[in-house]
Amino acid sequence: MQTFTNKHIRLQTITASWLQQQQVQLSVLRLDEWHPIVSGNKWFKLQQYLQQAQATGNHTIATFGGAYSNHIVATAFVCQQAGLQSIGFIRGEAVGKLSHTLQQAKSYGMQLLFVSRADYQNKEAIKLTQPNVFWVNEGGYGVGGAAGAATILNLVPALEKYTHIVCAVGTGTTLAGIIQAAQLHQQIIGISALKGNTSLEEEVKNLLPQSKKQQPFIINHNYHFGGYAKRTPALLQFMNDTWQEHQLPTDFVYTAKTFYAVQQLVLQNIIAPFSNILMIHTGGLQGNLSLPAGVLAF
Ligand SMILES: *Cc1c(COP(=O)(O)O)cnc(C)c1O
Repeated sequence: MQTFTNKHIRLQTITASWLQQQQVQLSVLRLDEWHPIVSGNKWFKLQQYLQQAQATGNHTIATFGGAYSNHIVATAFVCQQAGLQSIGFIRGEAVGKLSHTLQQAKSYGMQLLFVSRADYQNKEAIKLTQPNVFWVNEGGYGVGGAAGAATILNLVPALEKYTHIVCAVGTGTTLAGIIQAAQLHQQIIGISALKGNTSLEEEVKNLLPQSKKQQPFIINHNYHFGGYAKRTPALLQFMNDTWQEHQLPTDFVYTAKTFYAVQQLVLQNIIAPFSNILMIHTGGLQGNLSLPAGVLAF
C-alpha cells in the first residue's frame, strides 16, 4: 500500500510571456502529483467523511457518481486504504465494457451498482436500499468535504504572499474549503466547469461557517467550453501547448479550463498587474483516459 506525504506536492512557478507582460506571478499547487489516479482535491475532501464513518462505527461508505467520476475512484481508493468497504451507485445502466474510471474503482474494491438515469435522480430512494452505510453526497458536497479541502492550503508555504487563489469548481466544496482557509486580503476565484449553474454561489455559501460568510469570492461562469465535460479542439490544443510550454498536464473537465481562464483573466486585466496568483491544480488527470488515443501529447 502506498503512503502519501506532503513531499509529493510542489509549487510550480510558471514562466510565460503573458505573465511577464502583465507583471503577474503565477504558481500552481500540483495536487495532481498526489497520486496518478486519485484527484488531489478529492482525497482531501474525503478525509473528514472517512473519520466520521469510522467514529460512528460504519464499515462501509456509499456514494454516487457517473462513469468517469473522479469522486468515485477517489472514494474507492481512500476506503481501501482505510480498510473500509465502498459502494458506488453509478448513473446509467452498465453497457459494454467498464470505463477506465470504473475499472480502477473496482480494482480498489468498490462494489458498483448501476442505476438508470431516472432512478438516479431520486437519491433518497437509493439510500433506503442500504440502511447500514455511511453516505457521502455526489461529488463529496458538504460541510465535511469543505473542512477537508480547507487543509489543502496548509501545503502552501508563505501563503500570505498570494493576492489571488484560483481553483476549478464542480460542486463548490473545494472552493468553500479554500475560502475558509484563505486570508482576508486574498481574492478567491472559482472557475465553474458547468454551464450556467447559477445556484453555485448559494451552494458554496451554505458550506461556510457563519464567521466566513462575509469573505468575498467570485465564481466565473465563462470558461465551461460548452458545458460540463464538454471539449473543443481549441481546448485540446491549449492542453497540448500547456504541456509543451510548462510540462503542466491538465484534465479537460476542470483544470485545463481553469488554467485557460487564468490566462484570459490576466490578459484582460481582470487579475490586475503585479498580482501574485496561486492556482490549485486539483488533479483529475485520469479523466483524460476517456479521450480518443493520440489527441493529447502527454
Ligand atoms: C471534482 C473536481 C473538481 C471540483 O471540485 P468541487 O469540490 O466539486 O467543486 C475540480 N477539479 C477536479 C480535478 C475534480 O476532480
